[in-house]
Amino acid sequence: MKKHNFSAGPSILPQEVMQQASQGLINFNNLGLSVMEISHRSKDFVEVMDEACALALELLGLDKNHYSALFLQGGASTQFVMAPFNFLSQKAAYLNTGTWSTKAIKEAKLFGQVQEVASSKDRNFCYIPKGYEIPVDSDYFHCTSNNTIFGTQMHELPNTEVPVFCDMSSDIFSRAIDYSKYDLIYAGAQKNMGPAGTTLVVIKNELLSEAPRPIPSMLDYRIHQEKGSMFNTPPVVAVYVSLLTLRWVRDKGGVSAIEQLNRTKAQELYSEIDRNPLFKGFAETADRSIMNATFNLTTEENKATFDELCQQAGISGINGHRSVGGFRASIYNAMPLESVRTLIEVMKEFERKH
Ligand SMILES: *Cc1c(COP(=O)(O)O)cnc(C)c1O
Repeated sequence: MKKHNFSAGPSILPQEVMQQASQGLINFNNLGLSVMEISHRSKDFVEVMDEACALALELLGLDKNHYSALFLQGGASTQFVMAPFNFLSQKAAYLNTGTWSTKAIKEAKLFGQVQEVASSKDRNFCYIPKGYEIPVDSDYFHCTSNNTIFGTQMHELPNTEVPVFCDMSSDIFSRAIDYSKYDLIYAGAQKNMGPAGTTLVVIKNELLSEAPRPIPSMLDYRIHQEKGSMFNTPPVVAVYVSLLTLRWVRDKGGVSAIEQLNRTKAQELYSEIDRNPLFKGFAETADRSIMNATFNLTTEENKATFDELCQQAGISGINGHRSVGGFRASIYNAMPLESVRTLIEVMKEFERKH
């Protein structure tokens, strides 16, 4: 029986996508070959890459004349390095909202001055700081739109004149926002887009003029953009399955339709967390994520019972990250409403037992 998969990442993908992907792994486009065993420069694979790039921009509502989509390797963690390597010449402004922002800041410091404009570390990252200033002489401002571990999400972007860079690993394609306010977006595929192994980078073409320093080819956005993400062998399976998921998003009605569904799932789950006296939410209400709901038991005593009930119901991947404890229900795009309702039923059942 298929489990209700609340894993934070790698995480759930649409069941239809799994079916199509397994077909392509055996016999891709009726070639009598797997997508894994053909040249990345063959017509059939070039079409996959081109469609994936075009569809990513289309779903984000971005103009292909002004933005490029790239499928790179090395995870979002390599973007922590590439962004400052390519664009930090003097100083950059970073918002620290959790583990991933902290890691991005650490890497950026290798390349120039980093100003942490605000941090929510004082309360274990349970909120998104607001009302901070971004110095106008910053090369760019960097933020993390959704904090996968702590379950907070930026619901507004600060007003700034400087280019905005954003790690959207865990909420890309989950909501209809104005993506043209961002100059560089990156997202590891394995949260909301596909299997681990590729990272989507969306970059404003005008950023791609001169670099502030010599950059090794593999870490140079300009080279990847010129070569259409084919400077070296791309992770063909990860790109292929990402394409299947992007088509699934499109066929569902695009990011606005997906957002409606995501809001319903999040609202039902948070209502239960707030109603049920045995649970309390971790993140500040106003900053709650619609992708990762973090919550704790009001008393740890009966944890074994709740774990047992979850297991009986086929609920998987719900343990919280060690830095928060408790539970984290990751309810990405592919998570069906029925799975969220199953979890809510289990929470109710747990209440009845205690
Ligand atoms: C998972 C995650 C990362 C790390 O991604 P890798 O692909 O493992 O490098 C970075 N940022 C956010 C917001 C994440 O959720």
